[in-house]
Amino acid sequence: MAAPSGYALPVSAPDRRIWFDGEFVPWQDAQVHLLSHALARGSLVFDYMSLYETERGAAIFRLADHVERFCISCELVGLPLERTADEISAACFDVARANPGAKVLKLNAFLPSVEVDVVPADARVALAVAAFDPQQDVMQRKAKPPPPPPAAIKLWLEKERRQRRPDILHPHAKVAANYASPMLAKWRARARGFDDVLLLDEQGCIAEAPTSNFFLVDEAGALCTPPEPSVLLGVTRRSVLELAAAEGLRVEQRALAPAALDTAREAFLTGTSAGVLPVACVDGRPFRALCPGPVTEALAARFRRVTEGRDPDFLHWLSFVSP
Ligand code: PMP
Repeated sequence: MAAPSGYALPVSAPDRRIWFDGEFVPWQDAQVHLLSHALARGSLVFDYMSLYETERGAAIFRLADHVERFCISCELVGLPLERTADEISAACFDVARANPGAKVLKLNAFLPSVEVDVVPADARVALAVAAFDPQQDVMQRKAKPPPPPPAAIKLWLEKERRQRRPDILHPHAKVAANYASPMLAKWRARARGFDDVLLLDEQGCIAEAPTSNFFLVDEAGALCTPPEPSVLLGVTRRSVLELAAAEGLRVEQRALAPAALDTAREAFLTGTSAGVLPVACVDGRPFRALCPGPVTEALAARFRRVTEGRDPDFLHWLSFVSP
């Protein structure tokens, strides 16, 4: 018997092809078993990168950095990848060419085998690469499409649980299991009228949001972001740090106690989906500068220019899909 309808996309949905262990399969056929280790234990490792339209055609943003992070995530979780970084990059180009109009590429490494124990008896890792448009191919096909995200977001500081702890599941690992706990925190915040949550690290300092990194401009005008051990090493975070340096801004990676929010001039989130996204307030309290603040605006504009292929200094961040 088929699974009850209504949960998944209609089977004939997007005209997309997914690269599954070296073969292209239609979107609806890219499936794994309900009892697979990937699903049952949340052990799927992934990475998610943007495809931008430029005058020279589609380009993948910082491909090598994403593939490197993907390989590191697999190592941190203990998934033995059978393909090299070069082979994975080649697959990304093939998938991007096979799916015109796609806006993102998603890499997935997982244990498809049905398993009983936490340690899999069959540790062969499958690799799948998908390219799609999250809005057109997924969200707009929901029975009730959600409203578009706001231009500036309202955050809630999650105070109950310290979620980013390198001693449990390293924040550098982009593994499905790392998203289960923030899901609940974000769900609760949504129910109270906030858009997203800020998570704390083991010491009670600000770490990141569930799928984006956090920046603030402090009272002295320095651009600050939490340090590496307690956050995912976001590719957009790294890009913004490099762009800020190019703009001559003072940049600091340092621990930020929640009290830093009281005196901050402005704040923003960064991520593949978020881009550079202004934060309107945290716990209902706005920042000193009007939102979006001047630093946020300048970095968002520069980032946009880079992704449109109009910034010669950072053209090397784009890998053009058609040579
Ligand atoms: N933190 C977490 C936990 C994330 O899942 C993401 C999204 N990949 C980010 C930060 C932002 O990373 P990036 O800029 O590479 O998308």
